[in-house]
Order: sequence, then C-alpha cells, then structure tokens
Amino acid sequence: MKRFSLILVCILLIFGIGCKHTENKLSSTQVMMDTVITITVWDSDDDTLNGAMELCRQYEQLFSRTIATSDISKLNQTKVATVSPDTAALLKLSLDISAKSNGAFDTTILPLVELWDINNASTPPSRSDVDKTIKSVDYKSIAVNGTTVNTNGARLDLGGIAKGFIADRVREYLRSNGVSRAIINLGGNVALLGSNDGKDFTVGIQKPFGLHGESAVLLKLQNKTAVTSGIYERYFEFEGKIYHHVLDPKTGFPTDNGIQSVTILSDSSALADSLSTACLVLGIEEGTQLAESFNADVVFLMSDGSIITSKNLKLDQNGPTPTVTYK
Ligand code: ADP
Ligand code: MG
Repeated sequence: MKRFSLILVCILLIFGIGCKHTENKLSSTQVMMDTVITITVWDSDDDTLNGAMELCRQYEQLFSRTIATSDISKLNQTKVATVSPDTAALLKLSLDISAKSNGAFDTTILPLVELWDINNASTPPSRSDVDKTIKSVDYKSIAVNGTTVNTNGARLDLGGIAKGFIADRVREYLRSNGVSRAIINLGGNVALLGSNDGKDFTVGIQKPFGLHGESAVLLKLQNKTAVTSGIYERYFEFEGKIYHHVLDPKTGFPTDNGIQSVTILSDSSALADSLSTACLVLGIEEGTQLAESFNADVVFLMSDGSIITSKNLKLDQNGPTPTVTYK
C-alpha cells in the first residue's frame, strides 16, 4: 500500500487536498496513518466532514506506534501506564481477538515486525534471530485493568486492528450527526453507512499484485464494512520468494499458505480488520470457522486464481469481474 501512497500523494498535491463538492456529496482525502484516507458523506456539511477527519487524527495520535507521544508508544517504553479509555477499549478488543484466534492474531507482534522491517528490508532475518524474537511475542502478557495497562514487557502493534476500530468510531460519529449515507475508506479499510440511494454500494477487492485500483472481485454491500489483508500490500522479494507484512506468530515468518488475500465482511470494522489478519494466518478452514463464529463472512483470493467464499455469500463469475452478494 505504501508504494501507492506516494503516487497518490502526488496526485493529491496536484489536485489539492481538501473537500470536494458534487451535488449533495462531500468528500475529503488526507494522508494519515501511513496511508490515504477518504471520507465521503451525502446530505451533510463541511463541519461534519472535517469533524470526522479530525477524529481520525486524534485516534492516530493515541494508537500509532511510531508517534512518540501516543498511548501505545508510552506503553512500549514504560510497561505500565494509564491510557485513554479509547486505547483501553481497543486493547481489550484486540486481546479478545488474540485469544479467540488462538494467537493467530497477536497484538504483541511488534518485536517480530521490527525484526522483519518489511518496508525497508531486502533479505529475511536469520532463523535463530526469528526464534529468539518470537519468545517475546505473547498477548497473554498484557493485563488491562480499567485504563491501567501492564504489558509486562511485551510490545504492542495495533496495525492489524486500529484502522478498523477508527472506522467504526467515525461511522458512529457520522450517524450521531445525522448522516445516513457515507463511505469511510481508511487505506482500503472500507466502512459503509447506509445504502447507495436504496441500492448496494460496490466495493472492489484489489487484484493481488495487479494495478492499484484493479478489482479482482466486486462486493455488493449496504451498511457493512469490508476489510482486506493481503500478501501483496507490503512485501519484498528474496530469491524468488515473497516476504510480506502479515506474520504467523507461531513460526515468526510471513504466512505462506496459498492465500493472497482475505476480505472480511462484517458489521464491525474493528472485527473485520483483525479477523482479516487472523484468517490470513489461519488458512481457509480455521479462518472461515473463526469468521463465522463472529457472524462475519469471508472471501479468500488464492494464488491459483480461485475465489473461495463463506456460506452466506453468493459468488457470480459470469460477468467480466466476479461479483459477491449476500445470499
Ligand atoms: P494493513 O497494513 O493493510 O492494515 P493488516 O490489517 O493485515 O494490513 O495489518 C497488518 C499489520 O498488522 C502489519 O503491518 C503488522 O503491523 C501487524 N501484524 C502482522 N502480523 C500480525 C499478526 N499475526 N497479528 C497481529 N498483527 C499483525
Ligand atoms: Mg487487518
């Protein structure tokens, strides 16, 4: 995703970052959270839209592991700290997903993420370094008591869930400000509010390793959220093999199971975000079981080009681009 951010930033700079008006539709695009975010609202106003953007910024200040003053940085430095109620809520949720996914999603993954340093590295770390580092990854070390958090030395990375959590909060904010139709797109993490004038919105699933914006599948959705985790988003290639940014906490290595991307459809974006990461690690069978246990649905894009969907979804492959709808 990062590769494309630069291109997008250039486009944004050419056309100007800010609000665009078309009929009763308002849209704003900004670079935030290491990605590009766009919020579109219908029948609303600039103040509401700007408020939604501001909310994203405030949450980024709390949850980012690269902002030195964030709650997460504080915890990663001091082990015990009092955090904001929002950070405590996000941590509790991510610990719950960590437990229910049996550690496939592990919110204490930071030491491994730093060892791999996918955005900058060109070679994998040694097996012995991976084995050493993996010992410090264990979500069970984290204790959250009210707003007091004790990490017991484990180090947090909420990159696999924070955007979803923020998308949910932005959707709530818009709803409570009278907005009934909106698209919140936080770097491909899409949350829909309402319907597209009574009809479905169309959300594309990025074609893995395709051109940016090229869809492999079109989802027809209303009032839902769709979040994709893929092996093509951030990666490097070494000796013909792809090393990407979703790590299996059990092996310490990027997942390598034939799945190119997982898209979760759900009412909750935080759930969809964390489950998409977990399902990439767990694989088709266990991943589908986990998603369905949360009332979520899932679309797997496989390296052989096949598309696998959970049982509530209908896949139509007759048109030029396959479509997925609810049954
Ligand atoms: P995106 O970068 O598009 O948001 P994901 O939602 O799949 O993609 O999140 C991937 C990020 O989550 C990684 O960059 C890393 O920070 C973190 N991560 C990687 N592996 C795991 C894992 N097994 N459990 C939890 N977080 C992970
Ligand atoms: Mg995710």
